[in-house]
Amino acid sequence: MKRPRVRDDLVQLEGYHSPQVDVDVRLNTNEAPVPPPDGFRDAVAAELSRVDWNRYPDRAATALREAIAEHHGVDPAQVFAANGSNEVLQSICLAYGGAGRWAVDFQPTYLMHAQIASVTGTSVRHGRRLADFTLDPDEARRTVQENDADITFLCSPNNPTGMVEPPEVLKAVIEAAPGVVVVDEAYGQFADWSAVLMLDEDLPMVVTRTFSKTWSMAAARLGYLLGPTWLVAELEKVVLPYHLDALKQAVGIVALRYEAEMHERVAALVAERERLVAAMDQLPLEQWPSGANFILFRPRDRPGRNVWQELLDRSVLVRDTSSWPGLEGCLRVTVGTTAEDDAFLAALTEVLS
Ligand SMILES: *Cc1c(COP(=O)(O)O)cnc(C)c1O
Repeated sequence: MKRPRVRDDLVQLEGYHSPQVDVDVRLNTNEAPVPPPDGFRDAVAAELSRVDWNRYPDRAATALREAIAEHHGVDPAQVFAANGSNEVLQSICLAYGGAGRWAVDFQPTYLMHAQIASVTGTSVRHGRRLADFTLDPDEARRTVQENDADITFLCSPNNPTGMVEPPEVLKAVIEAAPGVVVVDEAYGQFADWSAVLMLDEDLPMVVTRTFSKTWSMAAARLGYLLGPTWLVAELEKVVLPYHLDALKQAVGIVALRYEAEMHERVAALVAERERLVAAMDQLPLEQWPSGANFILFRPRDRPGRNVWQELLDRSVLVRDTSSWPGLEGCLRVTVGTTAEDDAFLAALTEVLS
């Protein structure tokens, strides 16, 4: 059988994936540990019964964009919605990256930024964070300017370190960056400030958000960005026609009705996170202060990879970040329910004893 040769630049590219193993305690992908609130399912079912299945959906996702805009106090023309924030990021790369263009990120950070850029043919350069995982504004300026970055990715709170990027760093990057600055706020509700406050028609800066984490809706694959209207208009050109199906548009609107419940879940997760941090403090490991729903830690006397496997042997799955650049020996655990976190703590205590 003939196997046509794939694009040269895809040959070396490895797919990105987080193993979906069947275990009792799944703390590896930063999802919310609980389903959406009571009433959500019935409301979705009601919307489902109203879908005009023989018709294409509203291509501009007007009602959904209005609902998102109202949630953030911006104009609907500043909202671009897509199938998960990953499709949002891909659209940015399609519009502003591509062959002969450069994207910059600052490792250690979310690997999908570089991955999505590469798949779209965008070349990637990595700036470095300091040993404590903060970003030095001078290093950030130098990296974006030397590489003439068409796209610069920041992630706040940063996955997988959990650290919130201070406004001074973002301002330095925006001032220096020759291209679009993307602030990925997948965990934005956990942070004490948001780049949404800095949105401006005259600034080529966008903020991406997702329904996958704090909204308890990873199954829906829905994300969006807020940005200048002229930039949103460019993104509309690169997405497939009708890329957001009718049900998804409706589900997003339903979800936004439960904003108070979302904030309650975030507060509960923060309390649970602090309980985990205190308990992990008693174990032989190093951990980093988190402003999100996960904790990065490094077992002191044991290779991270072995600890990951021994946790898995006890049916507890965390994220093995030990081979990510700058994260030798590190693992990341998502904050789960009290029962899940107790199971994780018991297993970890056993493994590290
Ligand atoms: C989980 C996560 C996302 C979510 O992507 P979706 O495609 O919306 O599910 C985006 N960015 C970061 C940093 C994440 O951790």
